[in-house]
Amino acid sequence: MPGPYDLSQDQLAGLLDGEPAYRVRQVWDGLYRRALPVTELTDLPRALRDRLAADPALQPALTAAAYSVADGAQTVKWGWRLGDGAVIETVLMHYPDRSTVCVSTQAGCAMACSFCATGQAGFSRQLTTGEIVEQVVAAIAEARPRRVANVVFMGMGEPMANYGPMWGAVERLHQDLGFSARHITVSTVGLVPGIRRLAKESLPVNLAVSLHAANDGLRNELVPINRRWPLAALIAACHEYRAMKGRRLSFEWALIDGVNDRPSDADELASLVRPLGAHVNLIPLNPTPGYRVRGTPHAAVRAFRDLLVAEGVNATVRRNRGTDIDAACGQLAGSVILQPLSRPRVPN
Ligand code: SAH
Repeated sequence: MPGPYDLSQDQLAGLLDGEPAYRVRQVWDGLYRRALPVTELTDLPRALRDRLAADPALQPALTAAAYSVADGAQTVKWGWRLGDGAVIETVLMHYPDRSTVCVSTQAGCAMACSFCATGQAGFSRQLTTGEIVEQVVAAIAEARPRRVANVVFMGMGEPMANYGPMWGAVERLHQDLGFSARHITVSTVGLVPGIRRLAKESLPVNLAVSLHAANDGLRNELVPINRRWPLAALIAACHEYRAMKGRRLSFEWALIDGVNDRPSDADELASLVRPLGAHVNLIPLNPTPGYRVRGTPHAAVRAFRDLLVAEGVNATVRRNRGTDIDAACGQLAGSVILQPLSRPRVPN
């Protein structure tokens, strides 16, 4: 459902018809640079603020239905209820030197990766540009006085399956919220047409590809969309992206015990990614209700990384965040809606 962050400046000017022209800039700055809802734009005359606050086009698109914190308040997850009742989630992660927000691009997901809670839950609907941008604005407001430095499109949904609204959000983040392309990462399950389209955009955002298997037999099982765009097509598109953008790609690899963590998996992975000079992010598989295989134990994760490094691949183990509030990679399913809304507790 469209909200304030779906409006163009011209549309906002239309809502402010009859007001001095500088008001458009003032409200736009309030919404974006100051990340405030119109009700808090106290520098506006009271009557105008009341009029805007009552305008249906300026009602927030997201209502917090659940809020949880983990990792000693360093990870925050929201469950948002949208205007039509759909539910999405957003995760904010604080690090010593920066904060990162992970946004959803769809309510649910149609890609059906077996090990992912969002895939298990299925697809509800596409998000609008404004619904995506508003997640970032909420994170900016929450993080203060810390600064949100990075936005990753790694929440619920497949960004490339909602390309137009997703890219609209990237442009807003860049133009109106001041994020440079280097600090925006779009992650895909491997939709080749999307990667090609991204390669032609003027903003060189980072591309992450969720690989998880380096041969078609295993990848067909883990990531069903591989049947449509098999590895040869996917890797060719990655080479194209790199050639056109000159940006380093990264690959996500959720390590699944006994499934994709054998030395032969490391060898296959190394031979695919080494020519790309790509970075590999290893994540021990997080538990989800619908997938009974467990994550690779830590020692074996390190051994897998060491094998890759020995084969000349730049690989790191990603620190897991938010597993106890189902906020980690692959755990976003909107199930928070069943839990009561709770404000943050002070960690012990
Ligand atoms: N659809 C996009 C954006 C989601 S990013 C994509 O697939 O890239 C979410 C990341 O978490 C993806 O790399 C996904 O494969 C990974 N993931 C899914 N389930 C997971 C799980 N149970 N444990 C760890 N990572 C998982």
